[in-house]
Amino acid sequence: MKIIVVGGGAAGMMAAIGAAESGCAVTLIERNEKLGKKIYITGKGRCNLTNDCPADDLMKNVVRNPKFLYSSFGAWDNSDTIRLMNEEGCETKTERGGRVFPVSDHASDVIRALKRRMDRLGVNVRLDCEMTALDISGGLVQGVVVKGGEIIKADHVIIACGGASYPTTGSDGRAYEILKKIGIKINVPRPALVPIICSDDWIPSVQGLSLKNVKLTLLDGKRKLYDELGEMLFTDKGISGPLALSAGSYYEPACRIVIDCKPGLSAEKLDERILRDFKEYSNRDFSNSLSDLLPKSLIPVVIGLSGIAPDKKVHQITGEERGRLGSLIKGLEVHPSGTAGFGEAIITRGGVDVKEIDPSTMCARSVRGLSFAGEIIDVDALTGGFNLQIAWSTGYLAGTRAAWT
Ligand SMILES: Cc1cc2nc3c(=O)[nH]c(=O)nc-3n(C[C@H](O)[C@H](O)[C@H](O)COP(=O)(O)OP(=O)(O)OC[C@H]3O[C@@H](n4cnc5c(N)ncnc54)[C@H](O)[C@@H]3O)c2cc1C
Repeated sequence: MKIIVVGGGAAGMMAAIGAAESGCAVTLIERNEKLGKKIYITGKGRCNLTNDCPADDLMKNVVRNPKFLYSSFGAWDNSDTIRLMNEEGCETKTERGGRVFPVSDHASDVIRALKRRMDRLGVNVRLDCEMTALDISGGLVQGVVVKGGEIIKADHVIIACGGASYPTTGSDGRAYEILKKIGIKINVPRPALVPIICSDDWIPSVQGLSLKNVKLTLLDGKRKLYDELGEMLFTDKGISGPLALSAGSYYEPACRIVIDCKPGLSAEKLDERILRDFKEYSNRDFSNSLSDLLPKSLIPVVIGLSGIAPDKKVHQITGEERGRLGSLIKGLEVHPSGTAGFGEAIITRGGVDVKEIDPSTMCARSVRGLSFAGEIIDVDALTGGFNLQIAWSTGYLAGTRAAWT
């Protein structure tokens, strides 16, 4: 049986391995001049290749359509990923939060391990080879048309072309158009795990400020879309860092963001704390009284938003004003105006509607001889190695099940 895998990223390479292990003749086509261009930049070049959590917890970290991944994670889980890497000479280590990396800290070792396995299994790799259309006749896939017009024939085609984020790595969303033409439903692709742009004019003044142990809540009206503790960073135009990136996956137009700068203190405890500082600095101007409580660059912002005159003597500040200050520190609002876009998005939400795919085989429901793997599908997860695990798991399931069709 002849199988073509389109896309030489994480999902495509794993699909090729799965199909070749199942006895198929596999050709992997990749439009770039090399395989795994995106893998090279994952985990800041170190590649957080999976997460060492209990396998049952993998789904808990998937933001959209987790149940769709039940069979994929069952077929290939995080321990399988680690085992394959180790068998192919890429030793792994586990860091904070279960994040798994190559011991070498080099993403290139992950790619090398995959190439080694593909070589051993006889996968035929064609680089600089871009699919421009699918060759379909009578509802059955016959092969793929590639740039230049050549038709490569196959019994089954696995689409693993990635999403639309970081388009310079090769996954620029053009594959969605090819799929739309054959009637596959594509849910609007949107950036996810992405910095959030904010319209507040004070944001540039705190650029570079990193807040640890804060709580970020993303609200749509009163509904909490995201609510977590952690670390975030102010940029020149908005917010980034782990908390903000994750919140970016839940972003909706007209949502609000509230930052609790002191989540460890109740409102009462914070008021006691402010009162203590105010007693100590009672003869100072208000503007000089918050240095024990807040990072330096945030003080002018909080003072400005509090409505309390900066030169007011601390002992003149009223209980009501102090209450306002406390509420501000526990509920600093920033106003999102959008996300940073695909150029800065770690992943894409949206893509091939999961209803188009049989989750136990990854095969298309409407076209025979076609299946999908990886980020092109409308599934996405939080940071921590979960997105690559989705690529490995869906890739392996698609590869092994394609051999049965
Ligand atoms: C900066 C950054 C850091 C990240 N870090 C992590 C991390 O540490 N851990 C983690 O789990 N996830 C991380 N991710 C997410 C992770 O990289 C992706 O979820 C994963 O690579 C998706 O794999 P994929 O194979 O589905 O898609 P891709 O890796 O995008 O591969 C798709 C491939 O298909 C090729 N292609 C596209 N169209 C065609 C066509 N028409 N013909 C031929 N080839 C085509 C592309 O060139 C590309 O090589 C990161 C992402 C980014 C951008």
